[in-house]
Amino acid sequence: MSDAILARGLVKRYGDVVALNGVDLRVPAGSVLGLLGPNGAGKTTVVRILATLLRADSGEATVAGADVRTQPAQVRRRIGLSGQYAAVDEYLTGFENLDMIGRLYHLGASAARARARELLAEFRLEDAADRPTRTYSGGMRRRLDLAGALVADPPVLFLDEPTTGLDPRGRTDMWDVIQRLVAGGTTLLLTTQYLEEADLLADEIVVIDHGRIIAQGTADDLKRQVGGERLELTLADATRLPQVEQLLAPLGTEPAAVDPGRRSLLMPVAQGPASLADALRLLDGTGVVLDDIGLRRPTLDDVFLSLTGRTTQTADDPAAAPGGAPRARRHAGSAEGGAA
Ligand code: ATP
Repeated sequence: MSDAILARGLVKRYGDVVALNGVDLRVPAGSVLGLLGPNGAGKTTVVRILATLLRADSGEATVAGADVRTQPAQVRRRIGLSGQYAAVDEYLTGFENLDMIGRLYHLGASAARARARELLAEFRLEDAADRPTRTYSGGMRRRLDLAGALVADPPVLFLDEPTTGLDPRGRTDMWDVIQRLVAGGTTLLLTTQYLEEADLLADEIVVIDHGRIIAQGTADDLKRQVGGERLELTLADATRLPQVEQLLAPLGTEPAAVDPGRRSLLMPVAQGPASLADALRLLDGTGVVLDDIGLRRPTLDDVFLSLTGRTTQTADDPAAAPGGAPRARRHAGSAEGGAA
């Protein structure tokens, strides 16, 4: 399979800030790469360089066969870009926004109109087509912005945090749209802070932190890296957590992560179902009341925690940096929590 995106050694500095510190990427045509990282990791910088909006200080990249440095016009003709902030004209209707883009791409008046109608239908914006976009919800604006990126039918699409700031309904609608696009063969580079989103949409995930790639692989590869299943318990009474932590410690391959707020304890275990049975035996007769107990596979949040010592939610918090709070006390959270 040919590579739709190939980047080697991308470096970008802003004064003293090293936004990218040698990033290599390879995205085979027709596949989805999820670039996952917390705020400030360098995701937008990667997208802007590949979309020719920003020059790297060093390194090289080709997108859809064209060099971003020497052939930027060719690159621009072959890509679509939809960003964190929907770039739609508030005073134009949805139809007018897309029609205008079609004309800018020299599609011709009737082809531009037809493409606008087609995309409005595809993105479930038909009913709102003739309303000014200032009356649209955040999710509708994002869908319109994405539709705008697709007017010229580009083979390569960049989506920079397509669901950041959307409510859960807007997010699942967007996922739906993206999945249909990908089924149609578009190559996609998607940036996200949401592990759940990368897990759902990406064929391959690159985890980036402080401008460096810290891991890559399929979601399953990454989860395997952090080992086996997790035993998860929720207690009726949070004050019993220290006792339970101590009691169950021999079953864990690592110290438990305890979250008093959720009255929960999460611990990697080696023996899967046997560990669950052992835990129940150990708790029997202690008077500890369980609201819930179960085994679960590691999430990408566990992966991030294990790679960086931080969850994606706490990645911006200096107090949570490696060497900050003791790791065993931090709760790995859940992918669902990450998307909230
Ligand atoms: P977010 O999720 O917040 O968009 P990101 O992963 O996309 O984050 P970037 O926007 O690529 O991160 O930023 C990477 C680093 O470069 C950050 O430390 C950021 O503060 C810095 N940076 C980005 N743009 C500029 C700029 N124009 N001037 C100075 N520093 C910048």
